[in-house]
Amino acid sequence: MSLSDLIQGAAFLECEAALEDAHTVIVGAGYDGTSSYRAGSRFAPQAVRSETLYSLESYSPYFNRDLSSLAIHDAGDIDLPFGDKSSALKMIRSVADEILDMDKQPFFIGGEHLITLPLFEAALQKYNNLHLIQLDAHLDLMDMLFGDRLSHGTVVRRIMDRIGGERIFQVGVRSGSQEEFELAREKTRFFPFNTMEFNKTAETIGDVPVYLTVDLDVFDSSLIPGTGTPEAGGIFFPEFMQFMQALQPLNIVACDVVELAPRIDPTGASTAAASKIIREMLLGVNC
Ligand code: MN
Ligand code: MN
Repeated sequence: MSLSDLIQGAAFLECEAALEDAHTVIVGAGYDGTSSYRAGSRFAPQAVRSETLYSLESYSPYFNRDLSSLAIHDAGDIDLPFGDKSSALKMIRSVADEILDMDKQPFFIGGEHLITLPLFEAALQKYNNLHLIQLDAHLDLMDMLFGDRLSHGTVVRRIMDRIGGERIFQVGVRSGSQEEFELAREKTRFFPFNTMEFNKTAETIGDVPVYLTVDLDVFDSSLIPGTGTPEAGGIFFPEFMQFMQALQPLNIVACDVVELAPRIDPTGASTAAASKIIREMLLGVNC
């Protein structure tokens, strides 16, 4: 599996730089095979692209920056075998390796949260002091979910197995078992319920390489009901922009945005919100 094998379609709005000129490469990886409740994130990459063609401006008044002024290439979607988790993860890993080998910043649109594991591992191979910032309603620190060690509910636990908890920042989390919360309090950098405390300390992370993963269920379930495991009590868009502003001094080398399940929200509001969130992420990690 390589970048040239991806399914090509319309690009995310204005992300039409040539691959060789691009700083950032967008890839859709709509794997949703371990979704424990409501699957459907396989449809997210195409849904957000098509949303941007009709309803999203490329200019962000928040950053006073326009997507068209950045070197972003949308490479398309990986054609994943949904029933074969091991092959799907390998394919995602090989595409990520290829982008990183070209010294470009991968920006993946999931899919469920398990896609972060091969992506993080690819980035960790290149940046051995890699840190993780996870924006999520859930800790994803279970050791197993339904007897499975590789699942969207275990993904951060698998990353912790690799790098320990000191380099993992868990922000906005508000759901998990008591064991998971004890583990987070003890081992990870833990910022529950909102982003405020994290924002105050973000600058102190310094210039170490950072992987940013945004699980869209961190948002309140009234803003993004179109997600696999919605969770009340989440953040709203203005708070997300404060978080993105707080990330500005950091060195973000790879990112993903996961868990949009567009067909669960037939109003389309979840997809519209996700498209705008992705625009601000692209603008916010590209300076
Ligand atoms: Mn998650
Ligand atoms: Mn989640």
